[in-house]
Amino acid sequence: MAHTKEKTTMLCKTIYWFAVLYIFAYFLHDVEMRNINAAYESPASQCGYLSCHPTKQNMLNVHLIPHTHDDVGWLKTVDQYYYGSKTNIQKAGVQYIIDSVVDALVKDPEKRFIYVESAFFFKWWKEQTSTVQESVKTLVNEGRLEFIGGAWSMNDEATTHYQSIIDQFSWGLRRLNDTFGECGRPRIGWQIDPFGHSREMASIFAQMGFDGLFFGRLDYQDKDERLMTKNAEMIWRGSANLAKASDLFSGALYNNYQAPDGFCFDILCNDDPIIDGKHSPDNNVKERVDTFLDYAKTQSKYYRTNNVIITMGGDFTYQAAQVYYKNLDKLIRYANARQVNGSNINLIYSTPSCYLKSLHESGITWPTKTDDFFPYASDPHAYWTGYFTSRPTLKRFERDSNHFLQVCKQLSAMAPKKSVEFEPHLTFMRETLGIMQHHDAITGTEKQKVAFDYAKRMSVGIRACAGNTRSVLNQLSVKSETSSNTSEPRSDYIFDFKICPLLNITSCPLSELNERFALTLYNPLAHFTDEYVRVPVTHYDYKVIDNNGVTMDIQVLPVPSAVMKMKNRSSNAQYELIFLASNLPPLGYRTYYIEKQNYFKEFFGPSVSPKKTSSLTVIENEHIKLGFDTNGFLSEVTADGITQFVSQEFLYYEGAKGNNAEFLNRSSGAYIFRPNQNKIHFVANQVDIEVYRGEIVQEVHQKFNDWISQVVRVYRSRSYAEFEWLIGPIPIDDDVGKEVITRFNSGIESTGIFYTDSNGREMIKRRRNRRDTWNLKLNEEVSGNYYPVTTKITLEDGTARMAILPDRAQGGSSLQDGALELMVHRRLLHDDAFGVGEALNETEHGEGLIARGKHLFFFGQSGNRSGISLKATERIVQLENLLPTWKFFSNMTSYNAEEWRTSFKNIFQGISMVLPKSVHLLTLEPWHLNQLLVRFEHIMEKGEDVNYSRSVQINVKNVLSTFEIDDMRETTLDGNAWLNETERLQFVPDSEEEVYNSYATFSKSAKAIHLLSAAKPFLGVKFSDEALSSGQLGAESNRIKRTVHTERFNLHTGDNQKYMIELSPMEIRTFVVYLSVY
Ligand SMILES: [Zn+2]
Repeated sequence: MAHTKEKTTMLCKTIYWFAVLYIFAYFLHDVEMRNINAAYESPASQCGYLSCHPTKQNMLNVHLIPHTHDDVGWLKTVDQYYYGSKTNIQKAGVQYIIDSVVDALVKDPEKRFIYVESAFFFKWWKEQTSTVQESVKTLVNEGRLEFIGGAWSMNDEATTHYQSIIDQFSWGLRRLNDTFGECGRPRIGWQIDPFGHSREMASIFAQMGFDGLFFGRLDYQDKDERLMTKNAEMIWRGSANLAKASDLFSGALYNNYQAPDGFCFDILCNDDPIIDGKHSPDNNVKERVDTFLDYAKTQSKYYRTNNVIITMGGDFTYQAAQVYYKNLDKLIRYANARQVNGSNINLIYSTPSCYLKSLHESGITWPTKTDDFFPYASDPHAYWTGYFTSRPTLKRFERDSNHFLQVCKQLSAMAPKKSVEFEPHLTFMRETLGIMQHHDAITGTEKQKVAFDYAKRMSVGIRACAGNTRSVLNQLSVKSETSSNTSEPRSDYIFDFKICPLLNITSCPLSELNERFALTLYNPLAHFTDEYVRVPVTHYDYKVIDNNGVTMDIQVLPVPSAVMKMKNRSSNAQYELIFLASNLPPLGYRTYYIEKQNYFKEFFGPSVSPKKTSSLTVIENEHIKLGFDTNGFLSEVTADGITQFVSQEFLYYEGAKGNNAEFLNRSSGAYIFRPNQNKIHFVANQVDIEVYRGEIVQEVHQKFNDWISQVVRVYRSRSYAEFEWLIGPIPIDDDVGKEVITRFNSGIESTGIFYTDSNGREMIKRRRNRRDTWNLKLNEEVSGNYYPVTTKITLEDGTARMAILPDRAQGGSSLQDGALELMVHRRLLHDDAFGVGEALNETEHGEGLIARGKHLFFFGQSGNRSGISLKATERIVQLENLLPTWKFFSNMTSYNAEEWRTSFKNIFQGISMVLPKSVHLLTLEPWHLNQLLVRFEHIMEKGEDVNYSRSVQINVKNVLSTFEIDDMRETTLDGNAWLNETERLQFVPDSEEEVYNSYATFSKSAKAIHLLSAAKPFLGVKFSDEALSSGQLGAESNRIKRTVHTERFNLHTGDNQKYMIELSPMEIRTFVVYLSVY
């Protein structure tokens, strides 16, 4: 056996070498620049599918997957986990894991290990000697150590935004690619712990060129049914718009990601080792092997092929890898020894990709799926829908940080002169955002101290990147003529370009302390935008002029009293200065000069004060009109020619409290949303309101009670309204945890149907009390109907449509026809017993945490209307809401308005061709030396608008004409593999008839079976009698090897044609753009 294998390897090596030499000669001058990874390709590569241990055709092949699940922060911070400190909290030290696994792998070529989290791996990598690094490269090249997933962290799928998911994969995969080349490239998605799974994630994996995905957590009812009908492995269609290109083979693991009961051999576990001393009184070989083989057989009943995957590991396992491996060695040896006596079970060290390869080679067909895996329930009373909202301020801070990361990337890419610290600053920010996507970070399911650590990382990252933006903006603003007069380069900055992170509570030291300051609005979108800007000020009379010296119309409003009263707000701003900034250049900025006026003027208070609301109060513009009843609640809306009763109110659920000893006693907590008997409370019968009407904006300031207030506003010419809510401190003096929602009620006859977005992209249809693929038995009628809302929730009927766009992820639902609700904040007093061990009780200065945020509210005709459809408007506003202008403030004490206007460049446009509004420049960032990574995205779905949903053609070179472009090449979505060289494993879907039969089988047999725990396997079914023998169809089908050959691309075509690209609805195209080097 071994000899044959070696010979084959040698032959492959030889062929491979020829190929490499040939290509090298052919390209010579091109290799370094053009091939993403050729320079790192090792001639000994025998990784991935080529490195799999052979399976046996007529046996049940048990793929043992040694693995560790290393949370990038949870009970401990990222660094505490890495270094292994705070062992009193959790015995977990990632550095020891990688050390000891590498040791074990080096000693024995049979062993396999997978590693997932690039954030940890590269922390470890940079501490290693070159000798260790070389031996790790060998392990990777031989497929003994394999990267799976490979993103910076294993991201959550409910509360994350696709922009950040793509970013963190791109970064993790790039680091792997830069370090290990092709063999470092993961082929398999490994989302074993996230709490439910989004369809968009499947689509993203497919577009990144992944061959498959394995995951752990799905609704227990769904899992039962899928196992019973052998539908736990399937072809998942990730996009309704992209069709086949978004298909991803996906498998639900049998036992989450744990080892079978009794077989965790880790030092963290208490299970017995395999004791094989011949005469030892404790010898347990027979019993242990029997149990394990039974388990494998049982598992195989629920899957289609004669292969099963068994995860051998868990949270932070393998800190002493030899302990686990020694027992696995014995397990494999003793189990396989039985084959001579007729056992037909074969145990092998394997990886998820080797398992997938075996499935592929089985040549059978697979079921398909088109919806998603939300919400996730682990038992009848544990719906994991609380984390959709948990830690609302951390969730918002993450959105702000992403916003600034994009700005920082763009400005760093456009910098006329790049400083050496740009890249490390940017990288710190990229990696911080990568960590934030982790399934215990943005989800809000970490301990409080860890949440603080995440927040701190983001503020450090913002400060670092602010160094870049300050430098670049100074370079762009200070005209080169002025700087060339001075002999020294302007290393000291003229302008501050300061960031005010607390603008959301109207606080900004620079605008408060200076009577003259400039506000630079940087627009990260690739089209012109208009934006209503709000500036914290201490006075009510200011003059604002734009870069042309034109005086802007302004309106000044008092800061809402609830904001003024916030204990921890240390700001002198009593007013907000508001003006419309228009024609903000794409990927550019416009600067405004703002000066306090010193002559006396009267400040006008509210036009309607609390006691005067004897009739309907109205705020309106030409598009939308909101009416408030005499109690101060929103009561009707007119828009688009439709008038309807629409109300909005705040309510709260009481968080269930229990001892968690059994399902029925589950508490509501960081993960779980479980309202106590679905009890809901109104927060007020009467709302105090103040009304402000001006030329620019009309506002109703509502006060519901001591801890809930809101500003409802309608800006001139906007077709939607803004609801800016302020919640907290949520009182707990009654010992009741509270989960606060906002609810919009309308007359729309939605018949139980509503729509929520998937990670900010495509909308998914939801039906109240229903799931698409199984008969739901719902024991939690509120929380079981909650879905993640990252950017949008809507409902409609034949005439009207209502949509709400939040500014961070929130849980949402439609519990009555016509009603939409979003959970805005939660404060709980009990732990839900899923590990975090703390109640979600966020406080600040000894009081409950206050959260503030915005909902954009759209209402109008659902069907055809003249002009742009409401859906398309929502998409465009959603984008402008995600990436509004970034505000930079500079002190202008040294320059009067005229000096400022004539001496500096106060307007800048970074791209020359403006993109149509349906196209988003999703990414523009410095990549490798003299390279840009660029992504264009069509933001509409099919059929959302007659015009905007059309395919669009653009010329990339024209768009990016401010750069000297030499060449461009398309990659997979992650930016790390050439698109035209990427092939994915293809899987064949079941025929219609098979689909029908498999469902028919289920309805007869599986009604009462619950596999809540793998410890209670469903016994009594015979060993895989109907499994197909493998290798028949698959033997010759090695479609998997990525071709090494690189086609020579365009040297002399040189015309614009190659830069023309077309985008169809929801398509994202990714390019590496090569810049000219002087
Ligand atoms: Zn985890």
